[in-house]
Amino acid sequence: MSAPILPGAVLGVLGGGQLGRMFTLAARRMGYRVDVFAPEDDTPAGQIAYREIRAPYEDLAAVRAFAKDVEVVTFEFENVSSEATAAAAEFAPVRPSGALLHVTQNRGREKRALEAKGIPVAPFAIIESQADLDAAAAHPGFPGVLKTTSWGYDGRGQRRVEDRAGLANAFRELGSVPCVLEGFIPFVAELSVVGARGLDGSIALYDPVLNRHRNHILDITLSPAPVASAVRTAALDLARRILEGFDVVGVLCVELFLLDDDSLVVNELAPRPHNSGHITIDSNVCCQFEQQVRAVCGLPLGSTERTVPAAAMANLLGDLWQGGPPNWAAALADPGVRLHLYGKEGPVPGRKMGHLTVADSTLEGAEARVLAAREALLRR
Ligand code: AMP
Repeated sequence: MSAPILPGAVLGVLGGGQLGRMFTLAARRMGYRVDVFAPEDDTPAGQIAYREIRAPYEDLAAVRAFAKDVEVVTFEFENVSSEATAAAAEFAPVRPSGALLHVTQNRGREKRALEAKGIPVAPFAIIESQADLDAAAAHPGFPGVLKTTSWGYDGRGQRRVEDRAGLANAFRELGSVPCVLEGFIPFVAELSVVGARGLDGSIALYDPVLNRHRNHILDITLSPAPVASAVRTAALDLARRILEGFDVVGVLCVELFLLDDDSLVVNELAPRPHNSGHITIDSNVCCQFEQQVRAVCGLPLGSTERTVPAAAMANLLGDLWQGGPPNWAAALADPGVRLHLYGKEGPVPGRKMGHLTVADSTLEGAEARVLAAREALLRR
């Protein structure tokens, strides 16, 4: 096995968003330098980085020059092309691998790969043409959800479909691009498991957390998910099988649907730290970002043990700024509230600007306090 990349080295991140920012904060705390590659200036990650390289991901010469100056390349932006990860890999290891990224950035490929490994997913059909549309309409996949295979996030690029006519309309509305039609899963809860796998194959998993969405965007995360211990064990087992089955080196999140018979279905994978894992910064010994640093550097993984009985996280979207600056002092009047802001200009509605976290002796207490703190932001 190759020697670990030690503090003092320069780590490279493709992408400049909040995931890169929190990765960079963790890396800098541990004594690494971080170079960030992004197509914009003054990015959330670039503000903390040692160097911010501005170039489009398609500029392969710039990607090569970036990779030459770093010891390892990781990514926080999932739509980096295979050409770009291959160009980077000529000069530095890319972790997780470009091959994994290639699978997870296409919902069709991801579902096929999960199915091939015996992991439960929603019934699905790939829709690329009129013939596929006709065939899928005959398939008992209704009601269902039609999702573009690429570039979908936070509910963008997806439509609920009830019948054959709705399917044809939705396909047209989504631009007649390749799509996946999934059977609608009547879930009772959405869970996620963040886990990491090291270069030596060791695995560290965080407890499953419970996620609530609003307008398809993550709104609240509760840790640990209040589920039966058999559900917890099954969720952890799925995450372990996925980390091993895809030979991951790095952090990966598995998003899950919990059904009323306590069975689990995998919704999707994110081969990187995840919004629901932000809570680990304030509730676990080693957070998901430090874990990503350790994993990609070939260091031993950190403890995923919770340091608090329960915690809740609330996302702060740009909507909160619409009536003027949020009342930070009012939210922080509860001394247990932790504020995380991502350094973004332009608080447009739906944009993730930051989050709040609260730890408490109970989940109910943590949730009530984090919601009260977010509500207090509007007291102007
Ligand atoms: P996704 O972009 O695939 O994570 O989907 C965003 C959200 O839409 C999920 O978190 C669910 O709340 C909902 N959703 C997606 N796919 C399905 C499905 N097959 N059945 C029911 N709800 C779904």
